[in-house]
Amino acid sequence: MVAKESTLALKRRARKINRELAQLYPYAHAELDFRNPFELLVATVLSAQTTDVRVNAVTPALFARYPDPLALAQAHSVDLEELIRPTGFFRAKAANLLALATRLVDEYDGVVPGSLEALVTLPGVGRKTANVVLGNAFGVPGITVDTHFMRLARRFGWTESSDPVRIEADVAALFEPKDWTMLSHRVVFHGRRICHARKPACGACPIAHLCPAYGDGEVDPVKAAKLLKYELAAGAEDLLARMLADVDMAAQYRQEFQRAARDSESKL
Ligand code: SF4
Repeated sequence: MVAKESTLALKRRARKINRELAQLYPYAHAELDFRNPFELLVATVLSAQTTDVRVNAVTPALFARYPDPLALAQAHSVDLEELIRPTGFFRAKAANLLALATRLVDEYDGVVPGSLEALVTLPGVGRKTANVVLGNAFGVPGITVDTHFMRLARRFGWTESSDPVRIEADVAALFEPKDWTMLSHRVVFHGRRICHARKPACGACPIAHLCPAYGDGEVDPVKAAKLLKYELAAGAEDLLARMLADVDMAAQYRQEFQRAARDSESKL
């Protein structure tokens, strides 16, 4: 029988994972593109049930047309639906965005509030969205429990729960608040690139020695390397080198790379 890990040992291992992920992804950042709290709030609402890449493809045109809550509150739903259609569930999302913008204008003078209590009362905004906005647009520490974070927290043995609120509390107990926001980015980066839902690339995973779930995925190093995604994927070596060389510019390099990929796709 394997002895249960003590709370202290769990905390030490969790913090070691965080340190090693920080070395692996020194350029980790919010992968939704935004320039202010309003844009991040809208982008996060749009990111439900779709990828950040897809959201980033529609938001430039969306924010060019509706740059602030007042403009968005006055949008015609049909126009809005058309702009956000590629993100899926576009009718429900458009209705949420219209209600959200209207509330921001009516109750907050068109300014996104900077507290969890206020944010979660807005239409379409749950705890996850609120924490994303707080952590990345207001500098308030927050743990973002999205689908990747949930999966990895369980694989790491940081929680046994499937309930996002419980997971957030379990993980919060393992780390200092000052680490919460960057920890969230690193874990999500790892989930998107290496520790995938269906086939984690265990054989190419630098933190395998710290992970109780090693072996849930592909352990052959050559086969596992083929599963890596984004800047870790074969063919993206230049992007990875640029992101590592200048971490402050990493978001911009990623955006340029994704834009170029979209452009070449649209030419096919
Ligand atoms: S060893 Fe496997 S399950 Fe564990 S973090 Fe790495 S890829 Fe994920």
